[in-house]
Amino acid sequence: MNNFLSKWNEVLRDMQKLVSVVSYELYVETLEPIKVDNNKFVVLASTSTNKRRLLELHKDKILNVIKDYFEGVDEIIVLEPSEKEAFLEDIKQAEEIIENSQNETQKSKFNEKYTFDNFVVGKSNQIVYSAALNVAENPGKHFNPLFIYGGTGLGKTHLLHAIGNHITKNNKSLKIAYVTCEQFMNAYTKSLTKKNVEDFRATYREVDVLMVDDIQFIANKTGTQEEFFHTFNDLYQFNKQIILASDKHPRNIEALEERLRSRFSGGLIQDIQKPDFETRLAILQKKVEIENYSVENNVLEFLAENIDNNIRELEGSLNKVVSLSILMGKNKATMFEAEEALKDIATSQTQNLTVDKIMDTVCKYYNVKKSDLIGKKKNKEIVDPRQICIYLITELLDIPLMTIGAAFGGRDHTTIMHARDKIAQNIKTNRSLKTNIDDLIVMIKSDN
Ligand code: ADP
Ligand code: MG
Repeated sequence: MNNFLSKWNEVLRDMQKLVSVVSYELYVETLEPIKVDNNKFVVLASTSTNKRRLLELHKDKILNVIKDYFEGVDEIIVLEPSEKEAFLEDIKQAEEIIENSQNETQKSKFNEKYTFDNFVVGKSNQIVYSAALNVAENPGKHFNPLFIYGGTGLGKTHLLHAIGNHITKNNKSLKIAYVTCEQFMNAYTKSLTKKNVEDFRATYREVDVLMVDDIQFIANKTGTQEEFFHTFNDLYQFNKQIILASDKHPRNIEALEERLRSRFSGGLIQDIQKPDFETRLAILQKKVEIENYSVENNVLEFLAENIDNNIRELEGSLNKVVSLSILMGKNKATMFEAEEALKDIATSQTQNLTVDKIMDTVCKYYNVKKSDLIGKKKNKEIVDPRQICIYLITELLDIPLMTIGAAFGGRDHTTIMHARDKIAQNIKTNRSLKTNIDDLIVMIKSDN
């Protein structure tokens, strides 16, 4: 008998001692254990009534017993027969994602465009640039950990890659791991499922430099925080360099364990600010040089003046201007294209889209309550709008699946992905759905 089933038999044996004979025979013995999925233990009840009764009467007891035998489990999911298929489908998709992200981790490739040379230095990022360069030249020596924080699109990821590229070039013997917080978390939970946590630990604790991007997403993830704490200590103790990037200062990351907050604050915390006009202009000039674009000079000034809070958008606008000029058969981009490009950007900025706004529009359109939209109801009248809403959010906003999951009552990112993909698939064949979605997009973008 395999390990999983023999442990399950132990669970049954213990439960027999804890509940009445009737309860045991009706609700416990009839359960079919499905699998351990991350920190969740999944079982199938024989009927929906049995599921309800088990949850009402014995949820805590059985969870406690399961925890005794299955390390890392802190939740029990009881499915009823009608839910089994959908659940297994979700898991399959999740595993594919994890597989992909793990491969990425192992490669640890750095974007070759994200170098120190290509990073334009100005008042807004001077100190963080020096700190990053210092760390790249003396890993584990002066600033450990280096914690970089600042708004989106201001160059955090660029700097992490620059450090990676620099070390790869100058210090070939050092092992570097670069992961996003999401990848770290996925790799960890996958290792729990596959029962190879030790391999996971070895991967991350053997490196000389560990970089975790977007570490703010560790908020609320108790298990991952615990694991990361130990990884951190292990590396730190041997003077291995740790570099973290976040959109917030550690003190503003909510639901972060105090001991991690204090570890994060033990080295250098450095912010990256919005660039001033000169820096924005220099970034555009650099980009023109790198990409070999042909652009009239006043265009760059015009863009630098008008887009002032996000370098990603600034670059996006330049790309847009150049694409427009190519479409129009010109060999140099002019103010005409620049004004056109900015019109789009201006509308997308004033729209000020949020998750709430998309939810409100979907609720109005389908006449459902917001509490139902984010709640647990499983009837089609609710599930359809819910999935459509999730799809729209993924289409219209650039936010992580995990964050969307949190907005939908703490759903898992795999559930969000499943909903998104399902609707994306359905609109290919279902014309009325496509029309509804187009309507919704117009409504979302129009009513301010
Ligand atoms: P973040 O991780 O802070 O959200 P990124 O590092 O992804 O931002 O930067 C967004 C884009 O802006 C990238 O293409 C990056 O190369 C570019 N960028 C940011 N800062 C600079 C800079 N100082 N010089 C040149 N390009 C920059
Ligand atoms: Mg980034």
